[in-house]
Amino acid sequence: MDFFPIFLQLKGQPVLLVGGAAAARNKLELLLKAGAQVTWVATAWDKSLEPFVDHPSVDLVQSSFEPSLLDHKKLVYVATEEPGLAEEVSRLTQERNLPVNVVDQADLCSFITPSLVDRSPLLMAVSSSGVCPRLSRLVRAKLETLFPQSYGRLAVLLGEFRLLSRERLGSAETRRHFWDKLFNSPVIEMFLSGQEKLAEKTMVQALENHQANPDPTGEVCLVGAGPGDPDLLTLRALRLVQNADVIVYDRLVSPKILDYARRESEKIYVGKKSADHTLAQEEINQTLVRLAKEGKLVVRLKGGDPFIFGRGGEELEELAAMGVDFQVVPGVTAASGCGVYAGIPLTHRDYAQSVRFVTGHMQKDGSLNLDWKSLVSKQQTLVFYMGLATLGTISSKLIEHGMDAKMPVALVEKGTTYQQRVVISDLAHIAETVDTQKLVPPTMVIVGEVVQLSKKLQWFQPNDFEPTAETPFQQP
Ligand code: SAH
Repeated sequence: MDFFPIFLQLKGQPVLLVGGAAAARNKLELLLKAGAQVTWVATAWDKSLEPFVDHPSVDLVQSSFEPSLLDHKKLVYVATEEPGLAEEVSRLTQERNLPVNVVDQADLCSFITPSLVDRSPLLMAVSSSGVCPRLSRLVRAKLETLFPQSYGRLAVLLGEFRLLSRERLGSAETRRHFWDKLFNSPVIEMFLSGQEKLAEKTMVQALENHQANPDPTGEVCLVGAGPGDPDLLTLRALRLVQNADVIVYDRLVSPKILDYARRESEKIYVGKKSADHTLAQEEINQTLVRLAKEGKLVVRLKGGDPFIFGRGGEELEELAAMGVDFQVVPGVTAASGCGVYAGIPLTHRDYAQSVRFVTGHMQKDGSLNLDWKSLVSKQQTLVFYMGLATLGTISSKLIEHGMDAKMPVALVEKGTTYQQRVVISDLAHIAETVDTQKLVPPTMVIVGEVVQLSKKLQWFQPNDFEPTAETPFQQP
């Protein structure tokens, strides 16, 4: 971050403006809107500045710049075409540790003015850190259309409500639950769509109800986080992640998704492999029940879809048995995500009329008990989850049961992320490919004629992404 963003209280505060160039107009308007007391030093000024000459909050000094004018000022703006003056003022101002902005001369500034969307008291400030002001203006224009003027009135009303809720609702926790509920109810939308009075009445009612019955009831939301790319999160999943008190997540959840959570929310990682897997699952179930019973909104985040090889069903059975409320949000499952991002349609009229999602997870004794005969039927795509470690068995069993050894196979490693790798071979050679290419989990195995379409349909270029130091998944 090249600049530190803050909003400054300037009501009644002394500010100096040096120069009478046309560019001063914008700054004067902004300063006066913020209630500043402006000392404006200029010997001549652009015609467009005429209306400010007699402004009650502007004190015009018609003489050359004097260093003593900097005394007691909070902020200094410079908009002059006089040679050398901007450099001099900038130097003197910075010697006094005062913030200075010289219009259109980034190298002379110690602060910059953002593009502003003013829905006072709600303010949205956009800046490109001086790199490309045009881009920040574009973003600002987008925000202008996204946030109608009614957001300002909404902010005023919510501000009043905040004071009221402080008076009426005891603990900070009770207040937070009230606000969470309010923001998840239709009342905000009601206000913004023009029914302001009705929305206000509904809010008063909601506050009274909450005051009468402040005990929150906890809930567990089993949420699919998708296969890796955070953009594949559903809108409902995003909303729940943003509102959660606690997020219980495992290995396949991308850290970028956790960035959407509230800063204060608790995040519990339960993805570590333990020697005794059943015990770990039991511990997770107990944690979910305990947190919900404490009245928390618990989001149990799982990679992909929670009901596809995600043990989601088992966790819910426990919650149901303990009388805990729950809801489930589906996610994009890895088969879908990997197929799409590798350019492999899992079904296709010419090649596959059905697709099978199969687990490649081996039994405790190391075997893989699958109905191999049904898996080799024609015109069918097979997608193996957790199949990397057992790929040797999978390929030899399929060949043994009659599948063509030349059947194309795709391995999609870290699918949908900027580290995605797609390796294509055939059934006979795929196991040795894993060794030579050193593939690591999570990897999806796709077997079927459809794999050959990838050559034509490959569209996703993971390297277009700016790779960051962060890995797209938690370390095992
Ligand atoms: N519930 C998850 C699957 C969990 S099983 C879902 O619906 O996607 C875990 C297996 O899913 C991994 O072993 C791997 O085979 C596959 N997988 C999950 N995410 C993946 C990804 N981004 N890329 C490739 N395979 C993935």
